[in-house]
Amino acid sequence: MHKDNGTIIIAGAGLGGLTLALCLARAGFTVTVLEQARTLGEVGAGVQISANGARVLYHLGLADALRAVAFTPERGELRHWQSGETLSSRPLGKESEETFGFPYFHLHRADFHQVLADAVTTTVAVGAPGAIHLGAKVAGFDQSDGGVTVSTQDGRTFQGDILVGCDGIHSTVRGQLFGPDAPRFTGCVAWRATLPVAALPTGHVRPVASNWIGLGGHFVHYYVRRGELVNCVGVMEQDEWQAESWSNEGAKAEFLKDFADWHEDLKILIRNAETCFRWGLFDRDPMPDWGAGRVTLLGDACHAMLPFMAQGAVMAIEDAYTLAQCLTVNGANHAAALQRYEDLRRQRTATVQQMSRDNIQFFHHADIPNLTERMGKHRAAHLWLYGFDVTDQDFAT
Ligand SMILES: Cc1cc2nc3c(=O)[nH]c(=O)nc-3n(C[C@H](O)[C@H](O)[C@H](O)COP(=O)(O)OP(=O)(O)OC[C@H]3O[C@@H](n4cnc5c(N)ncnc54)[C@H](O)[C@@H]3O)c2cc1C
Repeated sequence: MHKDNGTIIIAGAGLGGLTLALCLARAGFTVTVLEQARTLGEVGAGVQISANGARVLYHLGLADALRAVAFTPERGELRHWQSGETLSSRPLGKESEETFGFPYFHLHRADFHQVLADAVTTTVAVGAPGAIHLGAKVAGFDQSDGGVTVSTQDGRTFQGDILVGCDGIHSTVRGQLFGPDAPRFTGCVAWRATLPVAALPTGHVRPVASNWIGLGGHFVHYYVRRGELVNCVGVMEQDEWQAESWSNEGAKAEFLKDFADWHEDLKILIRNAETCFRWGLFDRDPMPDWGAGRVTLLGDACHAMLPFMAQGAVMAIEDAYTLAQCLTVNGANHAAALQRYEDLRRQRTATVQQMSRDNIQFFHHADIPNLTERMGKHRAAHLWLYGFDVTDQDFAT
């Protein structure tokens, strides 16, 4: 039977918003999710979910659904951009489960998003009056002692006890809370492409998370969708960012040009890409506060980071679990719950934001003299990240 702990409005049905919706719905909250897009979905690219994120997803009962679509890599490797030499290797397969208790997953974003969306709609449909509203672009909110009213661009209003802005790096909720500002262009752009394994010579891609570190850029590739597709991300440094629009073939030619001096194996991947697109990479400095009153933020809305630790979505997942627990444990004392959530999350996410920035220096200077020392630090950072048990915290104020 559905118990009613209160109504939480979630702005944004990305990976963070849906994970939060599921955590809250399972804990007996009524959840209203407002998503600006007219259909639920994600971009055609990959995402790595490390053990610290998988822990939450398993707790939510998603183990079988994820295993059915994921690829589990054997190792993570750093390789030299031109020679292809393996510079370092860390275990990610069975060892991840033995060391951290949970697997390391490679997922196609659309598959992962679908697993979450299916779980949310099933849970919300069982007895809860809340729902996911599509085409609902949050325009603003008003809050009072009695609750929060959220209005959408098309003139609808929604009432709740709490509003959580899970609306990404350009968050409208964040803008109303703290005033408009622009995220920082990091000087890096990312090519993203996926391709079918069937298009490649047999054994061309190892069953590992590969990161080829180079000069002024790096190139990551790994299997997704049970090993049927390869996901590629090629990062290059660039002074300015302007969104371009190319045909797919034009984009592929540009992608190849950027990596012309790199190892032939990578060029084979690019030539076989089905779709290529290029994103400017933006981040923000850590924020001193994430919310005010009945309103808070989660995921990229409050700690946008470079993807160079592969932790942006994983941090949003950890946020979601923590926020749901704080709201559950602290009952009607919403202000205390939101403060506790921020206190538990701010330092960890700020550290990962900084680690991700520091990796520009590491990943884009393969011939630096202190490479061995940097690799040691990188391994230690992974142990710290993946070993974190988000469920084992004191959520009460
Ligand atoms: C190249 C690249 C590779 C990456 N790889 C990894 C990785 O391997 N592992 C990892 O953990 N992370 C990775 N990340 C980071 C990860 O993608 C993000 O951190 C994560 O998607 C953030 O999720 P989110 O739900 O906070 O925001 P988003 O995914 O941006 O979702 C926001 C949602 O809110 C909606 N929205 C926006 N505004 C409104 C509004 N006003 N009203 C209603 N809805 C709105 C949007 O439509 C969207 O659905 C990568 C990022 C990049 C760029």
